[in-house]
Amino acid sequence: MIERSQTDVLIIGSGGAGLFAALHALQANPDLEVTVAAKGLLGKSGCTRMVQGGYNVALAEGDSLERHFMDTIVGGKWLPRQDLAWRLIEGAVERVQELENELGCFFDRNPDGTLHQKAFAGQSFDRTVHKGDLTGIEIMNRLMEQVWSRGIARLEEHRAIALIPARDGSGLAGALTIDMRDGSFRLVQAKAVLLAAGGGPTMYRYHTPSGDKACDGMAMALDAGLALRDMEMVQFHPTGLLAGDETRMTGTVLEEGLRGAGGYLLDGAGERFMTRYHPHGERATRDVVSRAMFEEMRAGRTTPHGGLYIEMKHLGPDSVRARFKGMVTRCADCGFDLAGGRVEVVPTAHYMMGGAIFEPDCTTEVPGLFLAGEDSGGVHGANRLGGNGVANSTVFGGIAGETMAAHVAREGRAHKDPDEAVIEAVRAAALHPFGAKPGDLNGLRERLQSLMWDDVGILRTEDGLKRAINGLSGLSRELNETGLPDSERAFNMTWHDWLNLKSQIRIGEVIARAALAREDSRGAHFREDYPETGDLDKSAYTVLRQEADGLKVTSEPVAFTIVRPGESLIAGEAGAPPTAAE
Ligand SMILES: Cc1cc2nc3c(=O)[nH]c(=O)nc-3n(C[C@H](O)[C@H](O)[C@H](O)COP(=O)(O)OP(=O)(O)OC[C@H]3O[C@@H](n4cnc5c(N)ncnc54)[C@H](O)[C@@H]3O)c2cc1C
Repeated sequence: MIERSQTDVLIIGSGGAGLFAALHALQANPDLEVTVAAKGLLGKSGCTRMVQGGYNVALAEGDSLERHFMDTIVGGKWLPRQDLAWRLIEGAVERVQELENELGCFFDRNPDGTLHQKAFAGQSFDRTVHKGDLTGIEIMNRLMEQVWSRGIARLEEHRAIALIPARDGSGLAGALTIDMRDGSFRLVQAKAVLLAAGGGPTMYRYHTPSGDKACDGMAMALDAGLALRDMEMVQFHPTGLLAGDETRMTGTVLEEGLRGAGGYLLDGAGERFMTRYHPHGERATRDVVSRAMFEEMRAGRTTPHGGLYIEMKHLGPDSVRARFKGMVTRCADCGFDLAGGRVEVVPTAHYMMGGAIFEPDCTTEVPGLFLAGEDSGGVHGANRLGGNGVANSTVFGGIAGETMAAHVAREGRAHKDPDEAVIEAVRAAALHPFGAKPGDLNGLRERLQSLMWDDVGILRTEDGLKRAINGLSGLSRELNETGLPDSERAFNMTWHDWLNLKSQIRIGEVIARAALAREDSRGAHFREDYPETGDLDKSAYTVLRQEADGLKVTSEPVAFTIVRPGESLIAGEAGAPPTAAE
């Protein structure tokens, strides 16, 4: 039995992308019926709420859109799709003003009343707007107030499991969800569906994203026929907390501003090592620092738990307490003194630069399906600058809302009839584990996370990636044979663990195949057997599609539509166009 409902716009995910989409869709047309379905609680799930460091935007005197753009392109190792990156940078200015002036966010300020902007690694200007070190809570709370006051339909604790095509093949008809509270299936028919489930590399041993994220959105996009790009580009954040296996705090992130402010990374013997790896030391980009840390760990120069240390006390313990209140408290909860002592850290899987291919107006190849946020690919290329993530979800979320409102206006009132055969097949596949012999899902998850960390992690080789692909197909078979101990569907979190593992193994394989196909080293992707970056002028990105006989990987040349390698948009820099005065 499947419950059915209809709405004009269905938004899957209630992070920054999902809620901005809801707000902008309603601003464009207050009469629209907008429904938000989220696996967690609305506005309280996902990672936007977890944003610590802040939001990149070129506002300050001396900074410019061109400078922010060049940092994004150079940081992304010339792989970003340039029109998407430009849209991000331009849109961030408008969005931060909207956050402050329309939504009521109050970010930290300078004594003269201008917004305070702090340093983040890999950027040529201090441009990260923030609210202390808990910026996401400020953004999401204000955003939630505004969205709720406009009246949207909420499907909380509703997990989307598939995008359902129209019976006549003309596009998307809606999405099938499971109401996690009672285990029933609900089909939501919609004229426009936004996928904003936030990616999330939770298939790695150490990871930062919230536990509700399992790459479901990317798996659904593949099934719906969309291609994924740049999937080998998984960003590791250098400073994940390492507090032992028994706490979920292990892997959670200590924000980038700690290194930006001048924090030191030390090996197990208390020696600084970053200056041996890069002239910028601890302020080098995340990929460089994570790799250096991994090499130190591999060489055995580690702390008692097998990681490294971060130390801040040379900046003055009182100053650290004042500037990084949230981080100091988090470390204290785990028995560490961030302000006056040392904290054990480890690189941790943080963000997926790759995702489903979409256009600057958030449309996709499938009519009626839209994308925004971390489920989408192409904005960041090989590396995401800290502070460009929340900008990405809020900028493109807003754009998606406007585009969907226009799409619904064009489509008229009728909903498309869904393909009933697809609905039945998806429902049967989701119920499959109730019919199989109960088994050890925790053990399976641990093996998945170890495999991804060891062979598809910070340093990669052909042998390791092939081993991983074999291992993943074994885990997939094993999952299929592993059932659930409990036949009750209401709040059966083991069932949802099973479904999470299905998405994580699937997207794990996508990452491994893309990494095997890329025979060079760029940004977050490092092949020990192909350490060179290759010719930037011939930059290409990976594209993966699900075909009848399996995943197909191809590669497409990057179109340098705004700037080419060797050129710059910044006046006075090598490769910049001459100014009028010249
Ligand atoms: C600890 C941490 C700190 C960060 N700090 C920064 C920072 O300082 N600056 C920065 O720019 N970026 C930062 N990021 C990255 C940033 O949080 C993300 O890039 C961005 O918030 C993603 O937004 P989103 O809307 O795409 O997804 P999210 O905000 O993650 O929302 C995803 C939503 O989708 C829902 N969902 C997932 N699966 C399903 C499903 N199957 N069905 C229905 N709903 C589903 C979730 O429940 C959630 O509601 C940080 C990330 C983390 C984890």
